[in-house]
Amino acid sequence: MSELKLDIERYSTEPADLLAYGFDASGLSGTPAAVAWPETAEEVAAVMRGAGRIRAAVIPRGAGTGMTGGSVPFAGAEPARGALAAPPGGLIVLSFERMNRILEVDDVNLTVLVEPGVVNGSLQRELAGYGLFYPPDPASLEFCTIGGNVAENAGGPRALKYGVTRDYVLWLEAVLAGGELITTGVQTPKGVVGYDLTRLLVGSEGTLAAITKIRLKVLPLPEEIITLMAVFGDVGAAGEAVSRIIASRIIPRTLEIVDGHCILAVEKRGPVGLPSGAEALLLIELDGHPEAIKAQAGRVIDICGRLGAKVTMAEDEDAREALWRARRGVSPALYQLCPHKVSEDIVVPRGNIARMLTELKALALRTSVPIATFGHAGDGNLHVNFLPEEKKDLTPVLRELFRKVLDLGGTLSGEHGVGLTKKPFIEMEIGPAELDLMRRIKGVFDPDGLLNPGKIFPEKTFPEKQGGPFKGP
Ligand SMILES: Cc1cc2nc3c(=O)[nH]c(=O)nc-3n(C[C@H](O)[C@H](O)[C@H](O)COP(=O)(O)OP(=O)(O)OC[C@H]3O[C@@H](n4cnc5c(N)ncnc54)[C@H](O)[C@@H]3O)c2cc1C
Repeated sequence: MSELKLDIERYSTEPADLLAYGFDASGLSGTPAAVAWPETAEEVAAVMRGAGRIRAAVIPRGAGTGMTGGSVPFAGAEPARGALAAPPGGLIVLSFERMNRILEVDDVNLTVLVEPGVVNGSLQRELAGYGLFYPPDPASLEFCTIGGNVAENAGGPRALKYGVTRDYVLWLEAVLAGGELITTGVQTPKGVVGYDLTRLLVGSEGTLAAITKIRLKVLPLPEEIITLMAVFGDVGAAGEAVSRIIASRIIPRTLEIVDGHCILAVEKRGPVGLPSGAEALLLIELDGHPEAIKAQAGRVIDICGRLGAKVTMAEDEDAREALWRARRGVSPALYQLCPHKVSEDIVVPRGNIARMLTELKALALRTSVPIATFGHAGDGNLHVNFLPEEKKDLTPVLRELFRKVLDLGGTLSGEHGVGLTKKPFIEMEIGPAELDLMRRIKGVFDPDGLLNPGKIFPEKTFPEKQGGPFKGP
């Protein structure tokens, strides 16, 4: 593919670059024909037009922290209108790394305009200087990009009180597969003119358009934050505490669960003082007016105490940061413990959290595959990590998990999306009529199936189109 020529200056067909841009945090990998680093929307459009001419597929990429293979180059294309399976022009990774400027902080209207390659954590630090914050805070915030967050509709611990990415995206600029530049949405807090294309693009996993500019709503920093750690000897009691806190009409800023397996993995990676003998801990934060949250903290301590927990409060900012570092380190620590771990991202109604945790215990016993669970328990979103002793196909176990989740009124993914890893299961949740409608929408945006092919939609209706350089973990 070394003869591949793109209409922009910054691109590479060097094997080292192709390797570096071929994988994401799912553990899946593929080999692109080229990697392009545009600096403007016009350059993105040039790549799209050039790709269309040679019938190459384009795979938008932020930082590659996605957990479901969304930015992995994959040739098993499933074009909406029956074009060839593997794009003859190959696969071009479109990296947004160089489009990483914060273009405007509007501290009068409380919005911010950014390019897609801005890292979430950098935006948080910039906004703090204005006394503002952007609520969506994925645990990967020091690496992941706002473009990737928009494409995945990312959440994070604060989603419990403040909502997810879609609740903050006001306006988008994007490039369609043919190279056409479009804008969607409004620059104002409200606006209902026409279909809501902004919401359609949010969470579309790079399959409908490449996002080149984003206007986000931001909020004033809260007056005060109280951070509590509740340690439980029984994981079911921790789940029950989650349900009772919410039922008592308290919506904390975060309500995270970390089970005993995760605690041990974090401590093994580098001791941070988490309670190694515990079956679970809850990391609970309340924010708002100092008097109001003091009263709420008292009620939370009481609820957890009645369920047998020992509750401590972070004394200062350093102690608070140390707890969050430990929490954000859970996924990497589990990966270090078990490099072939399989991570899931289920959600159940909050009232069913305790039941789901009990089901997970039973599933681990039944299948002899250890399960480590952590996540955003306050909104019912659990990251269920299967840790088999050796690499093995866990499809039947995952099906069993998803069946239970759906029976409990839940959904297969809260924030990681479908990508490659979850597409074999999407039909368990989405009916044929709805899936067909989604395919038709994809066809309108991308008639030749050249934008992030092979993602979201299961191939089984197109078995002859499987193949390509896609490798499992
Ligand atoms: C340790 C760890 C913790 C995590 N914690 C959380 C969490 O708490 N909450 C959460 O929601 N997620 C979490 N994630 C998942 C991941 O960080 C998010 O999905 C994130 O939004 C991906 O951003 P990215 O920049 O890495 O995007 P990538 O992984 O590069 O891409 C993700 C998807 O977005 C598309 N895309 C990227 N940029 C664009 C663009 N400009 N236009 C169109 N499409 C684009 C890609 O094609 C792909 O489909 C975590 C991941 C890790 C590794």
